[in-house]
Amino acid sequence: MTKKRILTGDRPTGQMHLGHYVGTLENRIRLQDEYECFFIVADLHTLTTQPEKDSIGQIKENIMQMMLDYLAVGIDPEESTIFLQSAVRETYELNLIFEMLVTVPRMERVPSLKEMAQAANLERMPFGLLGYPILQAADILLPRANLVPVGRDNEAHVEVTREIARRFNNLYGEVFPIPDVMIGNVPTLVGTDGQAKMSKSLNNSIFLADDTETVDKKVRGMFTDPNRVSADIPGRVEGNPVFIYHDAFNPDLEEVEDLKARYSKGKVGDVEVKQKLTKAINDFLDPIRERRVTFEKDMKQVEEYLIEGTKRMRKEAEETMGLVRDAMGMYRPM
Ligand code: ATP
Ligand code: MG
Repeated sequence: MTKKRILTGDRPTGQMHLGHYVGTLENRIRLQDEYECFFIVADLHTLTTQPEKDSIGQIKENIMQMMLDYLAVGIDPEESTIFLQSAVRETYELNLIFEMLVTVPRMERVPSLKEMAQAANLERMPFGLLGYPILQAADILLPRANLVPVGRDNEAHVEVTREIARRFNNLYGEVFPIPDVMIGNVPTLVGTDGQAKMSKSLNNSIFLADDTETVDKKVRGMFTDPNRVSADIPGRVEGNPVFIYHDAFNPDLEEVEDLKARYSKGKVGDVEVKQKLTKAINDFLDPIRERRVTFEKDMKQVEEYLIEGTKRMRKEAEETMGLVRDAMGMYRPM
């Protein structure tokens, strides 16, 4: 009775935020007993848009913060395998093999890649960025994962993985499962600016590590209904970021319904709606903050979790590459 497997992870480009939580972290925590979980710290993926040495220099600190985010939300490093992508050589190897199984036009049709290039101010598409979903396929299929919990922006990438797995299996024999995607409760959480998805790089995030005052300040500055210049004007609830966050983080459903009803009649001010939201988010973050403080006391141990996980992943990776080579029948004189 072997457990099915999960692979998912994040780029160490900064702190984790509420969007990560509702998009994917929540599913990881919920499923970590039921599945054998592999969580990838995808440092090679940061090179696709940030190959500069300065950026590389920040990766270690980002990783340590990300590890704390993982531990603080309740990922259990003994039960689940947290590993460093670049330290698993087979990732590069499988990536190259998979590159032979997809076409350039197929990659050019992946919508998120152009957006990523634009967001990173890249005038021309780097070869490696075009190959982002292929590297992701190598990540997912190296532990032969069955399920990939991610946010909506990653759905098209997992589709590429499924195509690659099918193509490999057709050409060489059944080695890989065809992994399913699992999208979070809020597929794409909008940022506090109400303009784009919450993203580390867009200055529109509420971070899991933010303290109470910071959350208060960010919520007070949140975008709401721009047409509502005073509290007695009926406001729009639908698509309003303040209510999207209430739905996502306020467990008091009655309070949320009451606020929505009064808001659409012009009977409540933004101030009250936002104060209640600040409280809900702070209540949600409090236990996460507490656990973070505990883990923060022993950063050596935090690093040790990553080292141990990477060792476990290396064993899996060797096993999978053995199967891959056998299936392909590559000549190996030594
Ligand atoms: P970057 O700006 O560096 O791309 P990011 O904030 O988009 O960072 P990623 O590391 O690319 O974060 O994404 C990690 C995971 O979190 C992915 O599964 C992604 O789909 C999910 N995710 C990221 N942002 C959101 C969001 N705003 N809402 C829902 N899910 C999200
Ligand atoms: Mg992203």
